[in-house]
Amino acid sequence: MSKGIISKEEDYSQWYNDLVIKADLAEYSPVRGCMVIKPYGYSIWEKMQAVLDKMFKDTGHSNAYFPLLIPKSFFSKEASHVEGFAKECAVVTHYRLKNDGNGQIIVDSDAKLEEELIIRPTSETIIWNTYKGWIQSYRDLPILVNQWANVMRWEMRTRLFLRTSEFLWQEGHTAHATSEEAIAEAEQMLEVYADFAENWLALPVVRGRKTPNERFAGALDTYCIEALMQDGKALQAGTSHFLGQNFAKAFDVKFTNREGKQDFVWATSWGVSTRLLGALIMSHSDDAGLVIPPMLAPIQVVVVPIFKSDEELDTISEYVKGLTKELKAKNISVKFDNRDTQRPGFKFAEWELKGVPLRIAIGSRDLQNGTVELARRDTKTKESTTQEGLADKVEQLLADIQQNMFKKAFDFREANTVEANDYEEFKRLLDEQPGFIAAHWDGTPETEQKIKDETKATIRCIPLDAKEEEGKCIYTGKPSNKRVLFARAY
Ligand code: AMP
Repeated sequence: MSKGIISKEEDYSQWYNDLVIKADLAEYSPVRGCMVIKPYGYSIWEKMQAVLDKMFKDTGHSNAYFPLLIPKSFFSKEASHVEGFAKECAVVTHYRLKNDGNGQIIVDSDAKLEEELIIRPTSETIIWNTYKGWIQSYRDLPILVNQWANVMRWEMRTRLFLRTSEFLWQEGHTAHATSEEAIAEAEQMLEVYADFAENWLALPVVRGRKTPNERFAGALDTYCIEALMQDGKALQAGTSHFLGQNFAKAFDVKFTNREGKQDFVWATSWGVSTRLLGALIMSHSDDAGLVIPPMLAPIQVVVVPIFKSDEELDTISEYVKGLTKELKAKNISVKFDNRDTQRPGFKFAEWELKGVPLRIAIGSRDLQNGTVELARRDTKTKESTTQEGLADKVEQLLADIQQNMFKKAFDFREANTVEANDYEEFKRLLDEQPGFIAAHWDGTPETEQKIKDETKATIRCIPLDAKEEEGKCIYTGKPSNKRVLFARAY
């Protein structure tokens, strides 16, 4: 235990919560399942948003905004969609409060809405109702729109960032003239998410398809990226859905195709949320605090001066000014922690807790010797190095850290992905070595459900790169031609 954080080994779940709170990322609000994202946590989210937003624009998408409130009737138009979301919808029924005369504020029963409104749990319905007015012919297609928004799903079991009732996300909603084009779009966006996860979050992911049981309500196919957290539980980190013509049919969105015939429009939707912050924390951090991949760190380098007098601080500050300029020219974000209210040891611990990838400490002896002390957050190694060429060295080290973090997470996942060939072995491995288990499954929802009920493990995905292999379902012994990935999950 350090800095008031319980160790990962002792209680992983408590460790995670402690970390979120102590590192100043977020806290619970008075409303169950809702959270306050604090400035430091939000600054990481902003970095994620900036990168993803550029990726969406580079693939031809534009941002738009649709309303928070959706008429209830819209939900009944797509049967499987309403069935999937009905259990977790917040409903607005009134539009006014009043004083009851005894100083109590109550809902004004005279101000009842004629049609109740749903706080969006996702926006397919309101968007497809809108697209009806935008699409007449194939010339109006494709529509490639993304929205950054908050949504609300009345979750029963919540956990900061990973599963909250209100969460921030982006949702892409695209409309296409052909099924092939829509599928290509859903696959493209899965690849965008995988690229982001691996190259920015330093988190290796399995690209796969969900089974019908786990599919998005209203989708024909759900693609997903699945990651492994340090406790061996899986996390679904992003989804991309091929919606077929389901929403076009529900909202009567037809277009005249190139042959002059009327057809329903093809759709996709795709989203990632503030859950990605949870993924970042859970996959890389340690008992000393956060470890943020340099590509997403709001502060990449912190400089801590070690001084006894104002004169010493002035001399160090002068040097740091030049260094900061050089680093900024390389687009590296630097913080000079020149507070005189805290001691260096306190600052070291604080920036360690906040996961800043690199720390530079400089004392007056360093100034005389032309050196600094460099400390890496990922390996917790320290070295004394010359001031000459320091900016280049920092740039190189940040790239090394990014790579090292990915490799560490990758090796962890490889070491914790195993095959099981019968149900006994499967159950034993689930308990002995939490992680992904690749096993044969007969392809039926019933078997999947039974395994889930008996072991709490779910099929995370059918990996896109799964090899054809003759085998027998671990539960029923029926034939199967590829392995799927099982795990206990968040
Ligand atoms: P879905 O619309 O269910 O496919 O989810 C879209 C994205 O939001 C996925 O990347 C999910 O991981 C994420 N997500 C779903 N539910 C929650 C939640 N309660 N809190 C945070 N993220 C969520």
